Amino acid sequence: MKVITKINEMQTYINKMKKRHTIGFVPTMGALHQGHMSLVAAAAGENSRVVVSIFVNPTQFAAGEDLEKYPRPIKKDLKMMKDSKLVACVFKPEAADMYPEGFASYVALENDMPQVLCGVTRPSHFKGVTTVIAKLLNIIKPDRLYLGQKDAQQAFILEKMMKDLNYETVAVICPTVREKDGLAMSSRNSYLTPEQRNTAPVLYTSLQMAESMIELGERNPETVKKEVRRKLKESQAEIDYVEIIEAGTLKRCEKLCGRVLIAAAICIGKTRLIDNIIMDIKD
Ligand code: AMP
Repeated sequence: MKVITKINEMQTYINKMKKRHTIGFVPTMGALHQGHMSLVAAAAGENSRVVVSIFVNPTQFAAGEDLEKYPRPIKKDLKMMKDSKLVACVFKPEAADMYPEGFASYVALENDMPQVLCGVTRPSHFKGVTTVIAKLLNIIKPDRLYLGQKDAQQAFILEKMMKDLNYETVAVICPTVREKDGLAMSSRNSYLTPEQRNTAPVLYTSLQMAESMIELGERNPETVKKEVRRKLKESQAEIDYVEIIEAGTLKRCEKLCGRVLIAAAICIGKTRLIDNIIMDIKD
């Protein structure tokens, strides 16, 4: 497994590799867990070479967020990827090389997609995400890009960016990998104290309750959201948002029909957790 830190070295390596191989690309911020590894496995199943990036992207963190304290267990990450035998190359650029002095070319969606859900409390977050992924796609030129449904808003925004900007890379969205009690795996789960960790599964169970209500015929999103909020309030979690909107476009829906995204974000202590369920409503 090759580990490359320099952008020009990565470009040379990719240009050679592309002549003989299809490339599946998995962008990450490191602190890898089974969620990340499921994307690696999906990429290995559909491409002849897998490239993983590890980059804690400063432009997607606002002042006061957890950029400095974000976990960076790089040795452990590299071992996990090497042991999997699925990864050909890890790209681990430096922030100073990705954003040299005078960097000015940001990529951002100008519709509402980056402003809803997580965008309400993190208004500049998705501009950082689209910018870094645009750069990584230009460097790695993968055939397929692997993203987790865990970050559904991010995945839909990136799909839209890739369509609007005519990237030939195909986006593949993979299912959320969960702990036994339903909590979505996340690098940020390591911030939780044991007591907070016991509370955390309430996020997914609340979303599952919403799913059941819809399965049983409820079609008013406000009624479902109210019940989810009530259930979340019973725990020590603080609600950031509970939303039920159109999957893909992230547009409001008055009446639940088609493919919908049930999404919520909560804070437990200082740790912010997000999760979602996507449902296909037939009638
Ligand atoms: P991150 O390192 O948090 O930026 O995540 C890198 C990629 O892994 C993103 O596409 C995430 O959506 C995905 N991911 C994170 N957690 C999970 C999970 N529990 N299941 C599946 N994919 C995940």
